[in-house]
Amino acid sequence: MNKTILITGTSSGFGAATANYFAAKGWNVIATMRDTTKNGNLEKSGNIFVTQLDVQDKNSIDKAIVEGINHFGSIDVVVNNAGYGLFGIFESASREAIQTQFDVNVFGAMDVTRAILPYFRSNRSGTIINISSGAGAIGFPMASVYSSSKFALEGWTEGLRYELVSLGITAKIIEPGGAMQTGFMSRVGGESAGLNLIEDYLPFLEQIGKVYGGMQGTADADAVEKVVHAIYEAATDGTDRLRYSPTDDIKPILNARRNTSEEEYQTFTNSIFLAK
Ligand code: NAP
Repeated sequence: MNKTILITGTSSGFGAATANYFAAKGWNVIATMRDTTKNGNLEKSGNIFVTQLDVQDKNSIDKAIVEGINHFGSIDVVVNNAGYGLFGIFESASREAIQTQFDVNVFGAMDVTRAILPYFRSNRSGTIINISSGAGAIGFPMASVYSSSKFALEGWTEGLRYELVSLGITAKIIEPGGAMQTGFMSRVGGESAGLNLIEDYLPFLEQIGKVYGGMQGTADADAVEKVVHAIYEAATDGTDRLRYSPTDDIKPILNARRNTSEEEYQTFTNSIFLAK
């Protein structure tokens, strides 16, 4: 029997590309999105079943899982992909805006996972793949809130993995770098537009704007393909490997984070992000 994957946030970006890729590989795909009229990025394929799921709505999560199992007969892999970035100075972000960031990026993934685990436990198999970010390993300036949500996602996934091993279930993390071809950056602009401007930060904003401006164009041109391939590898490699970091743009900083001393890491990142 063909394997079945359920993916959240398939209206665009990595989610839609992952749905199309798995369907082309012969998988059954439960492509979920909060507004099913936004299904235009999905290929027309009998392997793809589109259903509504808003990660902030617990009932829609339960319903999508039941509908998906009824449609295809099983779920083998769940990809917690739905997410967005609240970027800007921390002090400018309201508690409510931060809460919503965590509701989607962290509690949404937790609620989907809690809903599928009884089914995976009864099968003694299943794979959970959580889409983190380089910002799940590194605290980026102007992205402290987003980074904190992805750090939370990674810490939770890493701890959860140990709990699930004896039940035949694996939990994995994908850490993409930047991808300009998804809807992510345009939504960042929309989310950040609502933040208050605090004048004391203007010199820092001007300086960090130049840093990020200089980084434009450094994202991997084929980032979406690399991320989709990493998700496919994570779903099919049969290992208990925890992390997959498929794009080259963040490798130097991830390497400094993970393979050098704290002091060397800080010197390296200061040289990137702080004024000389
Ligand atoms: P995207 O094109 O904006 O896709 C995000 C998806 O999440 C959309 O389908 C969006 O649906 C969905 N979503 C947002 N809130 C939701 C909710 N409450 N319930 C269900 N779905 C919801 O951006 P993307 O780049 O593909 O992002 C996918 C994941 O990759 C995110 O977790 C993001 O943090 C991560 N990531 C992205 C990058 C990057 O540079 N692109 C880098 C690292 C990690 P709507 O269309 O309804 O808004």
